[in-house]
Amino acid sequence: MEYLDLSLYEYRKFPLPMRSVGWLGRQFGVQGGVRNLATADMQLLVEASQRLGSVTLGTHECEFCPTSSPFEGNGEYRYYDRNGDVYAAPMMILHYVGQHGYCPPAEFLESLRRVDRLDWDWRAERLLSILVDESEDFDFRCEAIIDLVKWREDSRVLEALIYSIQDEELVDVAGDEIGRSLGILMSHGIGGNLRVDSLPEMVKFGLDQVARP
Ligand SMILES: [Zn+2]
Repeated sequence: MEYLDLSLYEYRKFPLPMRSVGWLGRQFGVQGGVRNLATADMQLLVEASQRLGSVTLGTHECEFCPTSSPFEGNGEYRYYDRNGDVYAAPMMILHYVGQHGYCPPAEFLESLRRVDRLDWDWRAERLLSILVDESEDFDFRCEAIIDLVKWREDSRVLEALIYSIQDEELVDVAGDEIGRSLGILMSHGIGGNLRVDSLPEMVKFGLDQVARP
């Protein structure tokens, strides 16, 4: 999939408007021109690109690698700017930067300096209402499990995740993601009273994927 940097995201359906970054291909090539990304910016990008969402069954091959052994990626990173913007980049963005001289747009790099510590806003409200509403789009609910953790300091996130464990279908499909989200909260000292023993196996599995203190 190839999209122009900063264009409206349209790869998959998503409950929030987002902008595309790093969806590179042959038509537009390495957008912005081949350059070396500054080390500090690379660190910012790596730190902000920790958890994949929208992991699907198919993979995408890098169109700049030798065709005999292309790098393959799956899933996307989402970055929530304090100013209300959301950017979506393919998992392969780190490969494009590291191996093919891709430099993401300056506006996006600037926003990475503001991704942590988000105030509760309409995006959080929307994701929360999706997660706890069984009539909402099922895929949206699975992605909300992942992205709500961006507001981990707010107690509503822990409450919604615990509530979601009562939904058997959600646990069947995304129990590991619920566990990862709970694990991230716990690694930040949130959710200390959670009874881990009583959690469904899939949730425990995800929880174990996250390093806890
Ligand atoms: Zn490549």
